[in-house]
Amino acid sequence: MIVPKTGSAGPVVPKKGSAQPVVVRVPAKINLHLSVGPPRPDGFHDLITVFLAVSLYDQVTAAPGEGLSLSVRGEGAVTVPLDDGNLVWRAAVALAEYAGVPADASLEVVKEIPVAAGLAGGSADAAAALVACDELWGTALGRVELVELAAGLGSDVAFLLGGGMSLGTGRGELLTPVLATGDWHWVLAFADGQLSATEVYAELDRLRGEQRPPPRPPDRLINGLRVRDSRAVAGALVNDLQPAALSLRPALRATLREGDHLGAQAGIVSGSGPTCAFLVASSRAAVRLAAALAAAGVCRTVRIVHGPVPGARRTTTRPAGAG
Ligand code: ATP
Repeated sequence: MIVPKTGSAGPVVPKKGSAQPVVVRVPAKINLHLSVGPPRPDGFHDLITVFLAVSLYDQVTAAPGEGLSLSVRGEGAVTVPLDDGNLVWRAAVALAEYAGVPADASLEVVKEIPVAAGLAGGSADAAAALVACDELWGTALGRVELVELAAGLGSDVAFLLGGGMSLGTGRGELLTPVLATGDWHWVLAFADGQLSATEVYAELDRLRGEQRPPPRPPDRLINGLRVRDSRAVAGALVNDLQPAALSLRPALRATLREGDHLGAQAGIVSGSGPTCAFLVASSRAAVRLAAALAAAGVCRTVRIVHGPVPGARRTTTRPAGAG
């Protein structure tokens, strides 16, 4: 639990905030290893996961305003709430309450990360909103404070502040950096429609019945990443949620089969799905696979990404079409 700074120590004395809009770019994540334990009393599941931040980005802009307002556009925007159901809104309120400043900001999200797609777009936006509002309001929180606020907002938010590649434990919020050599190339196959992470976890529990093993560590994967053995990495990708996602969305089997047939080193459902992620050996192989997957008609669209990339960072680029 994070104690607001407005306690006995008194409110944060903000440094000079920004009179200009603050634009923050934030990546999506995929899980190279997602091992899920039994449900905990709080409803979450204990996880051991390896997160990789990849080059598919949302942008969050925080501009001076009175009270909070929020607009969202881009990929899947019409399905995203515009009130305190939005993680961006919650992040801004959590930061303002913690720092003891008024939550005055006009927030805009431009989405490239599809919604409810297993890529943690909402968590990414929350991480970006923390960074953007911290800069706009001049609250200048330290990394530790931001990470603590992030962990209170959702399991993936803390990872997306820092990005890169990390081992996540607990419900994914306890992070240790993973050493990896070089850049890893992926093709993402976006599916039609969404999958609710809550429903996918419930389906996993249903499929497992009484058999609920503890989460397993990713030793083989970590070794492969360290020495850049891509065959070892391809053979060590794990997603315990994959059978549940396939059970709820059987059409994803054809996507995974086609990626395999077309020469991907490995294919896996990303997080709770329905996005599928295919590991390839090079950026040229990514272009070839992306074109072939698109032509095969087994997904809505494809994106080529690489990782690890940094987490939520201020950028000077305004979102396309922003005023
Ligand atoms: P999870 O993070 O739950 O594993 P996910 O990565 O598959 O899920 P998200 O894109 O984060 O999916 O969306 C999950 C839910 O969060 C959706 O139902 C969506 O309406 C809600 N949501 C709240 N804020 C946002 C946001 N800024 N962007 C996207 N979705 C959001």
